[in-house]
Amino acid sequence: MDILWILWTIPAVIAVEETLMDSTTATAELGWTVYPVSGSSDNSWEEVSGYDENMNTIRTYQVCNVFDNNQNNWVRTKYIRRRGAQRIHVEMKFSVRDCSSIPNVPGSCKETFNLYYYESDTDVATRTAPPWMENPWIKVDTIAADESFSQVDLGGRVMKINTEVRSFGPVSRHGFYLAFQDYGGCMSLIAVRVFYRKCPRVITNGALFQETLSGAESTSLVAARGVCIPNAEEVDVPIKLYCNGDGEWMVPIGRCMCKAGNEPVENGTVCRACPSGFFKPVQGDDPCLQCPINSRTTSEGAINCICRNGYYRTDSDPLMMPCTTVPSAPQSVISSVNETSVMLEWTPPRDSGGREDVVFNIICKSCGGGRGGCTRCGDNVQFLPRQLGLTDSCVYISELLAHTQYTFEVQAVNGVSDQSPYSPQYASVNITTNQAAPSTVSIMHQVSRSVDSITLTWSQPDQPNGVILDYELQFYEKDQSEYNSTTIRSQTNTVVTRGLKPGSIYVFQVRARTVAGFGRYSGKMYFQTMTVEEYNTSIQEKLPLIIGSAAAGLVFLIAVVVIVIVCNRRGFDRADSEYTDKLQHYTSGHMTPGMKIYIDPFTYEDPNEAVREFAKEIDISCVKIEQVIGAGEFGEVCSGNLKLPGKREMFVAIKTLKSGYTEKQRRDFLSEASIMGQFDHPNVIHLEGVVTKSSPVMIITEFMENGSLDSFLRQNDGQFTVIQLVGMLRGIASGMKYLAGMNYVHRDLAARNILVNSNLVCKVSDFGLSRFLEDDTSDPTYTSALGGKIPIRWTAPEAIQYRKFTSASDVWSYGIVMWEVMSYGERPYWDMTNQDVINAIEQDYRLPPPMDCPSALHQLMLDCWQKDRNNRPKFSQIVNNLDKMIRNPNTLKAMTPLSSGVHLPLLDRSIPDFSSFSTVDEWLDAIKMGQYKDSFASADFSTFDVVSQMTMEDILRVGVTLAGHQKKILNSVQMMRAQMNQIQSVEV
Ligand code: AMP
Repeated sequence: MDILWILWTIPAVIAVEETLMDSTTATAELGWTVYPVSGSSDNSWEEVSGYDENMNTIRTYQVCNVFDNNQNNWVRTKYIRRRGAQRIHVEMKFSVRDCSSIPNVPGSCKETFNLYYYESDTDVATRTAPPWMENPWIKVDTIAADESFSQVDLGGRVMKINTEVRSFGPVSRHGFYLAFQDYGGCMSLIAVRVFYRKCPRVITNGALFQETLSGAESTSLVAARGVCIPNAEEVDVPIKLYCNGDGEWMVPIGRCMCKAGNEPVENGTVCRACPSGFFKPVQGDDPCLQCPINSRTTSEGAINCICRNGYYRTDSDPLMMPCTTVPSAPQSVISSVNETSVMLEWTPPRDSGGREDVVFNIICKSCGGGRGGCTRCGDNVQFLPRQLGLTDSCVYISELLAHTQYTFEVQAVNGVSDQSPYSPQYASVNITTNQAAPSTVSIMHQVSRSVDSITLTWSQPDQPNGVILDYELQFYEKDQSEYNSTTIRSQTNTVVTRGLKPGSIYVFQVRARTVAGFGRYSGKMYFQTMTVEEYNTSIQEKLPLIIGSAAAGLVFLIAVVVIVIVCNRRGFDRADSEYTDKLQHYTSGHMTPGMKIYIDPFTYEDPNEAVREFAKEIDISCVKIEQVIGAGEFGEVCSGNLKLPGKREMFVAIKTLKSGYTEKQRRDFLSEASIMGQFDHPNVIHLEGVVTKSSPVMIITEFMENGSLDSFLRQNDGQFTVIQLVGMLRGIASGMKYLAGMNYVHRDLAARNILVNSNLVCKVSDFGLSRFLEDDTSDPTYTSALGGKIPIRWTAPEAIQYRKFTSASDVWSYGIVMWEVMSYGERPYWDMTNQDVINAIEQDYRLPPPMDCPSALHQLMLDCWQKDRNNRPKFSQIVNNLDKMIRNPNTLKAMTPLSSGVHLPLLDRSIPDFSSFSTVDEWLDAIKMGQYKDSFASADFSTFDVVSQMTMEDILRVGVTLAGHQKKILNSVQMMRAQMNQIQSVEV
């Protein structure tokens, strides 16, 4: 602490000494009181005129009784007023005669004297009082000379003058006397000055400190509070200095600094307002800065400079950055049309507005569609890498209509474009698309075969790009050259190829034709005719097979009711043919690598064949059952260990088939393995294999420590963060995306059919089909409906009404799973009856958000529950959407307030209902987008009908360039549309 004080002493300020008495200024006699009184035998102190070292006349007191013993000579000053001082300093100038220089001097000769003081509130001293002795007098010190003198010059005195300062305190009475006691010396008291010290008024650290008296002791520190100088403000409080016993300021604490708009001048003692053209944004010791380019001040003392007209700043631009403006239009847009796509390239704007954040937006309009003007392009047009916020000067636009004129506007925008009243500058280009040939057929299926014919069918290309006129099928025997191929034209997507050799493998390829010509051939697919022996055996056993309803995935591809001729494939030697795996199931050649389509095991004439194909047979000796963990439909579910040769032992779940099963039950039980075995995805339960060659028959899967999701959530009610729940939902959506990509329709997606492992990874499971069958009456979740049993609460209306099971109906069920997850396993629609649920859904009622459910998630649920299945999101979009939420957890902060009853209409209550406003302006105000009122009006978006149809491009066109505002308006427009639909459906 002491060291700090030394460092913190303020050196520039000199202490002030305030004199209370000075003997040298006396113009007449000093007239101090002497004891014993002069004239007595012993001479006491005597007042004498003399000169100081500068030869000024002064009044001094002298005494020199060195030859007499027992000297006790006092001289007392007049009464000295204290004037507030607490510590008094006495400076004495005196000379002392060296005793040894006096001949024959006795031993009593002294070279010192004593200094005393006596305090009193009034001037009460007399010749006798206070008595001339220590106590009542208080001794300050015995004063000795540093130098004494030994001779006297006749022309004056060669005096050695000593100066000594002594101090004493605390003094508290109104005043005091000093006394000097001689006890046998020869000396002269030349000057006495009495003073006290004080710290002077000072401005330091931006604060003013008033003059302050030093304390009573030499070590005293007297604290003084400072006050900020004008236009300064406190930075650290308290603002203090300490005045020490020597009248010096020290230990500065706290400080004031010039306020924003003011700079320190005159050594920091004045805060002066920034002159015009200069600014200072924050308080501090820095000087004012000159306004950056394109900005100015409006008065002195500016804390910032405002941009000149036509120039702007974004919220994140530093105040020192010059003000910037909007970019000029992009230059020389070049288009290269390729069939129904176009590549646009352009040169960046000549003037970036002074900014480096220029990006480009593309406005697409299709023109000349028979009605004259141009209309906005639909949502199906694809932009690569994206439509808005392009950083590079090019974009690839595809999925345009053939033979159509388009106008593309390339807008240049930057960080300040949204502040400019002028629409973004753009360059436009007109193009006309050509006709595109159809895309390839992705897969062919065998409908039937005989010894000399194979009937094949395929689905239409994903992008026909026009009306398909016909297909061309090319085939040749596998062992022959491609040049010997035969081609057949067909106006339908089914062809019977005849005249083939028995028992031979043929290679098939098909392509579609439109007016634009042929598309590319599909990949090569291999199909084999029957051998004569096979034919003879099988002809006896023709049986009808399963109708499409249980084979929804395949129905999607084949699109016709397929009757597969049951053929005995036992004679077919799988090991001999390198094409076995590819026969009927996979395509080769141009197919997307890794793309695989789900095969319904019931399309196999012998379902055991499907099990052999898709599930690995495990030897029972590798399996160790440990304990029963649940009850499945066909028998117990156990946990256990699986140790395959050459692999590490793993924990597995084992589903068993109870003894006494019928052949049909065995087939149904194993069908789940044939389905599961086709899948390979981290969010789909993984099949390890089956045990069919010993009893009991088993299906072995990876073990999921936390069991089924519904009960897991109920057991852990409220235990997870929203992000954890969204992570689970993301996993389920990802598994479903994979399954939908394989054309597999689950039909029973529900939390009870999701399994959870120890890392909270959720996997889709339960691929058994039997619970949908009429004859199983055990489970009330599945309600009988025309053509099978249906889990009503989880099923989309079109699937309930006319068994339209698709990936879109799985998306509906996924929405219910979201609701189950966010409500920690609550039963969807609580205790409503199935019929009430069906009626409510039909009347457009939807489940409300569960407690604490972020609006964004409930909105996604509502999207999944769109009545028109085409309007529901795809699983890939759901995954993207959830990924975005996980990346930006802020989007999960907004909550929809919890509503009470069951009957909650399809509305997001965080967005105001447009119908409560009479004008678009009022509505814009309500959604806090009032600043765009004029832009909406001038672009003719002035009625709710027009506004409800706005697309993202319209919003851009109106001049909304801030992403947050775009989203807000788009969401509100979508909500308006939903509300309008609802109003209409209520009216209907
Ligand atoms: P399931 O017949 O598939 O509905 O299975 C019946 C019950 O067994 C499930 O509800 C789970 O509790 C349990 N279970 C089924 N498969 C597994 C597995 N792979 N890991 C852990 N538990 C399982």
